[in-house]
Amino acid sequence: MDPAPEFRLYNTLSNAVEPVVPREAGHLRFYSCGPTVYSYAHIGNFRSFLTADLILRTAEALGWRTTYVTNVTDVGHLTEDDAADASGEDRMAKALRSKEGERFANVWDLARYYTNELLADWNTLNLRDPAVRPRATEHIREQIAAVEQLIEKGHAYETEQGIYFSVASFEGYGRLSGNEAAEQLEQLVRDTVSDPGKRDPRDFALWKKDPKHLMQWYSPWGWGFPGWHIECSVMARAYLGDEIDLHAGGEDLIFPHHECEIAQSESLTGKTFSKHWVHTRFLQVEGEKMAKRTGNFFTVRDLVGTAASGGRGVDPLALRLALISGQYRKPFNFTKETLKASAKHVERFREILSAVDAAAAAGAGGADRVGERLDALYDRALAAMADDLNTPEAIAAVIEGFKLLGGMRAQLNAASAAGARAWIARVNALLGIVEHEKPLAERAADAKDADPDAVRIDALVAERYAARAARDFARADALRAELAELGVEVMDTPDGPKWKRASTL
Ligand code: AMP
Ligand code: ZN
Repeated sequence: MDPAPEFRLYNTLSNAVEPVVPREAGHLRFYSCGPTVYSYAHIGNFRSFLTADLILRTAEALGWRTTYVTNVTDVGHLTEDDAADASGEDRMAKALRSKEGERFANVWDLARYYTNELLADWNTLNLRDPAVRPRATEHIREQIAAVEQLIEKGHAYETEQGIYFSVASFEGYGRLSGNEAAEQLEQLVRDTVSDPGKRDPRDFALWKKDPKHLMQWYSPWGWGFPGWHIECSVMARAYLGDEIDLHAGGEDLIFPHHECEIAQSESLTGKTFSKHWVHTRFLQVEGEKMAKRTGNFFTVRDLVGTAASGGRGVDPLALRLALISGQYRKPFNFTKETLKASAKHVERFREILSAVDAAAAAGAGGADRVGERLDALYDRALAAMADDLNTPEAIAAVIEGFKLLGGMRAQLNAASAAGARAWIARVNALLGIVEHEKPLAERAADAKDADPDAVRIDALVAERYAARAARDFARADALRAELAELGVEVMDTPDGPKWKRASTL
């Protein structure tokens, strides 16, 4: 095998592809911004989460240890936070008042529900779990303490309405986004509802005083709630320390969110917050921005759910493959065609996997030279991933490997089949596109609502199998019909029943 390649990623801070150099050799500690749980995460959000997942998998494939933290924002993300001034309406409160919000008694229930659904989708798309998934609402005390310290150090001040970070007090503000000129920054935040007590229009909120807010906590400044940016500074520090190796998120987070995180964290510690900053370009659907209005807005369940639950029966790993088929830093256009092509690949991977498993059990062929060629293709895939997550090239190498295996499956002997199986496992660990790493039962237990269709289908398939074994064919046929209605096709194989979703793409 080739020596491990150097891991290189584009760094938004330096505008260059640079080696990732963990502070502690061989141990990558990184943070990726998670979603605001006021609704289901969409496939664009998942494109960003998948970038973090691929960073994790590549680092581990290179033999590194990882500590990966990604949060859940379950408070304080206001509709106008994007404009650097926490004003506007709380997304959670707005969601509660919407049609979908009618079934929740309060914002807390709403946040809990969508957090569970996030975990279900996370599992469905075969993303690895972070070491810690902190929730903003569970770290309010640390956020209050951080705001107090920023005031003490002269980086923040109080007005009648809240506490603000003083941008003028931090020299490096604007370095990440390139929005450095004072007029430019003022321009960017000009249209926000401003607090007349603010000293500088660029200053952003750390705490909002609001005794009427739906989610509020008691602080030295009375009842209120934190600004959005402070939560990530605080949670990254709580679990990863003052200095981290890498921080990731979607491209919209460069400014103001990450710019503000740097200002807060570095003002608190006097140290460099994160060495590497990685941002994912936005996903578009059929060449357009995703929008509910234009009917091209997709959540994971819109695509992978069965027809009976309003989904389109797409194989979850086909969706994963489609979402990672473009490099994270290039504009990505998600299309039906990409999804269909990905579904074909994933189906073929599975077919070959079954053939390899069968050969491992009984293979009598004579081929044992396949190993070296597979190893070379794995090395090519890993080198591509280490080269700024070049997924198209890595996927091409994997497809070539499966082609090779498909062509010679009849010639595999038990030993070469076992080698092929190990290759598939390595490929799957790197890209996660062949089989789910967590068994379904575990996925279901993780989030009680995990892929409810799949849990139900599994139960029906097992029941049908039992009915057939008991020669109750009428019952078995009735169950088959029920499964067909759910958009599921059952295949009876020598290894027992298998099922797949009949795609309605
Ligand atoms: P939010 O819930 O809005 O805080 O977003 C969660 C994550 O998804 C952030 O890292 C965003 O930058 C990212 N994100 C939002 N929309 C898209 C998109 N269309 N494509 C890629 N990433 C996105
Ligand atoms: Zn964040």
